[in-house]
Amino acid sequence: MPLPLRFEDDKPYEECGVFGVWNGGDAAALTALGLHALQHRGQEAAGIVTLDEAGLFHAHKGLGLVGDNFGEAKVIASLRGPHAVGHNRYATTGETALRNVQPLYADFEFGGFAVAHNGNLTNAYALKRALVRRGCLFQSTTDSEVFIHLIAISLYSTVIDRLIDALKQVQGAYSLVALHNGALIGARDPLGVRPLVLGRLANGGLVLASETCALDIVSAEFVRDIEAGELVVIDDSGLRSIKPFARTDSRFCIFEYIYFARPDSVMEGMPVYETRKRIGAELARESGVAADLIVPVPDSGVPAAMGYAVESGIPFELGIIRNHYVGRTFIEPTDQIRHLGVKLKHSANRAMIQGKRVVLVDDSIVRGTTSRKIVEMVRQAGATEVHMRVSSPPTTHSCYYGIDTPERADLMAAKHGIAEMARIIGVNSLAFISLDGLYRALGQAVRDAKKPHFCDACFTGDYAIPLTDSTDNADRQLSLLQPAGQ
Ligand code: SF4
Repeated sequence: MPLPLRFEDDKPYEECGVFGVWNGGDAAALTALGLHALQHRGQEAAGIVTLDEAGLFHAHKGLGLVGDNFGEAKVIASLRGPHAVGHNRYATTGETALRNVQPLYADFEFGGFAVAHNGNLTNAYALKRALVRRGCLFQSTTDSEVFIHLIAISLYSTVIDRLIDALKQVQGAYSLVALHNGALIGARDPLGVRPLVLGRLANGGLVLASETCALDIVSAEFVRDIEAGELVVIDDSGLRSIKPFARTDSRFCIFEYIYFARPDSVMEGMPVYETRKRIGAELARESGVAADLIVPVPDSGVPAAMGYAVESGIPFELGIIRNHYVGRTFIEPTDQIRHLGVKLKHSANRAMIQGKRVVLVDDSIVRGTTSRKIVEMVRQAGATEVHMRVSSPPTTHSCYYGIDTPERADLMAAKHGIAEMARIIGVNSLAFISLDGLYRALGQAVRDAKKPHFCDACFTGDYAIPLTDSTDNADRQLSLLQPAGQ
């Protein structure tokens, strides 16, 4: 199966979506639907593990989209049982991808255990080195396998205590769902960087998912967000909440609101679509400019552009049209084709743009390569001025918490000031929302530097979770680990 050519190489990538269900009836079908709704969080592999009434586990995993792997009725039928966990993975190419596809499964003395993880562990290499020295044999190169080995060597007797033991040793961002013979488990890291929500099915079964859009597709009612540092154990007697960590202020990923989450999801009580419009309105207040049209860079720039247009009073128009049928390639991703990528995906709506002063609204600039091509395309379509407004602050730092961003050296805003960026991209003016403006749009009066409400490290370099592996100068001979999703 050809792997996708990424036409959005200039965007950061969410590295996974998770879904779990207990007492869901046809759990595999529900999980496939849930993963389908979470497809934006990972497009390169998908997997489901189910548990039937006899205590037997069933698994199916593969490279490709959810529909590629779970579109056939016989596959769903083979995944028997009312309980399931599933995973969408963002990954790179090659042989290693298949063995890294989650959920990961292992047989323990207490029975089978399947785990699916969204996020990235920042001390996974250090842990792996210690585990390999103890004789653990890793089967994959994903950091998530560390959970399996930590559970295996734990001296605690119950599954839950072993998992808690493991969670207390890992650093990083994680939202995970796990399934064993007795329960469905959900957990979020102590800072709650990555999302996880709880829902209830009409039959009373309970669902865990990365986003509420995955609850909607299976008609599950939203119950609540799993709290930062919370572990929930769901079994036939209901839900038990455990708080194994010392209480600390959460730091939810601010980029989920800007770009990653699906617009119809509600994150930590805030509807993503409305929030993006508010960010756009704040951006307009901060950096208004005389223009004839507000044009979003589709699709992710659309809500912010709508907010910008309403606040500025300048008409909103779809001046760039996106081809929705591009995504999986029918051709090899050679350099020549990559160069064409932006044109395959976006085209300028000449009739709208010609002779106009255009404000392009996008959600982020990472390398700047796509922005430059889009601006060039809009100019070629006859725009007399092109201004760019960005609904995130400049991305100056890499993410180590489960989002695939380029190395810092490749981040345009890490290398250039705004005036220089404007020159390279080819716009008449360029402005980003300020960090305080972003916080205002998210309902905070200001960013409290001592106690920021969100993780915003890719804009500030304020990494709240230690980057142990990145600062560890140890010999990397054992370094089979790559960041989650690799
Ligand atoms: S560094 Fe940025 S992308 Fe990564 S978790 Fe923090 S806010 Fe989100």
